[in-house]
Amino acid sequence: MFDALIRFVREQYRSDDFIPLHAPVFAGRERDYVTDTLDSTFVSSVGAYVDRFERDTAAYTGSPRAVATVNGTAALHIALQLAGVEPGELVITQPLTFVATCNAIAYCSAEPVFIDVDRHTLGLSPGALETWLTDNARVGDDGLCRTRDNGQVIRACVPMHTFGHPADLDGLVDVCARWKLALVEDAAESLGSFYKGRHTGTFGALGTLSYNGNKIITTGGGGMILAGEELGARAKHLTTTAKKPHPYEYVHDELGYNYRLPNLNAALGCAQLEQLEAFIATKRELAARYAAHLAGSELQFVTEPAECRSNYWLNAVICSSHEQRDALLKATNDKGVMSRPIWALMNRLPIYAHCRKGDLSNAEWLEARVVNLPSSVLPKEISE
Ligand SMILES: *Cc1c(COP(=O)(O)O)cnc(C)c1O
Repeated sequence: MFDALIRFVREQYRSDDFIPLHAPVFAGRERDYVTDTLDSTFVSSVGAYVDRFERDTAAYTGSPRAVATVNGTAALHIALQLAGVEPGELVITQPLTFVATCNAIAYCSAEPVFIDVDRHTLGLSPGALETWLTDNARVGDDGLCRTRDNGQVIRACVPMHTFGHPADLDGLVDVCARWKLALVEDAAESLGSFYKGRHTGTFGALGTLSYNGNKIITTGGGGMILAGEELGARAKHLTTTAKKPHPYEYVHDELGYNYRLPNLNAALGCAQLEQLEAFIATKRELAARYAAHLAGSELQFVTEPAECRSNYWLNAVICSSHEQRDALLKATNDKGVMSRPIWALMNRLPIYAHCRKGDLSNAEWLEARVVNLPSSVLPKEISE
């Protein structure tokens, strides 16, 4: 079973060896830039590559400010703080996500509320969000959204752009505005993905990116906060120990964090960002080939939502049953072609099992069926 699919994947990568899910490619100026930081001795918390990486990312995404952080989880932690999330409050997110989304909420001593996703985007469903809020929340005279039963503040909403496919942002922006929720996008997987011509992560008060080793471009480890001028300046201050600018005195005017991205990592990021569009071109080509190969089969290839340009970070198929999912996972991994199931839903994890949730039918349906297939940039097609 699945022999044709396994043969197809091996042909794409022209390899009989183990084929990983997503391997980084360093085909540009990585060595030059990293060596430059070593020669200059500025490998750590000071250096020109951090400023450049932030500027280049702001320009690419169209975000007024971009603030580099040590990883994507730290970026989300600070973004939530700046969105006003306080201890004891609630933050709405999707159960179908990587655990970092929920952990960042918990770091604020807040609690996630799990709302269903849409089947065609794999992202938070505006319809399910509206339904849950109508049944469970109200906006008070003070302009805050609160739960009906105990008056707990629901401060923010964190959709995640699953595998790089943009969620229904028009719908989410509308629901969040009417229910007075701060919109914070977890765009960790969607660098290079645009919704109606605008980059994901720039639709709400704040958005965050990740440059972990498995993401579309990597800094080894790293993240970015996307925000307007004011919140961006606050993000820079908070992520750099809240030190007031001074030629030599150490004055820290509030509780800050050492979440700054080292210059060494930023150098890698600058070189990777130069190749992003070339990476996306080959990934979109690979996705088109998967779609053509799987057309008419029982495996439904996940494609970009309408009016979006997805980065196709991780290719995914929806199997016709849980049994077929298990068979696909076994057949591919047994033959050295790496595949992985989608995450177990966050509401099943012991740390989040007690959290509030809406009807999660779509997330449960997808959890039982979705498998990721090898998605690395096609090496032969990368040019300088
Ligand atoms: C990768 C990722 C993050 C951030 O991960 P880091 O490893 O901390 O950079 C956050 N959310 C999602 C959905 C992710 O995939």
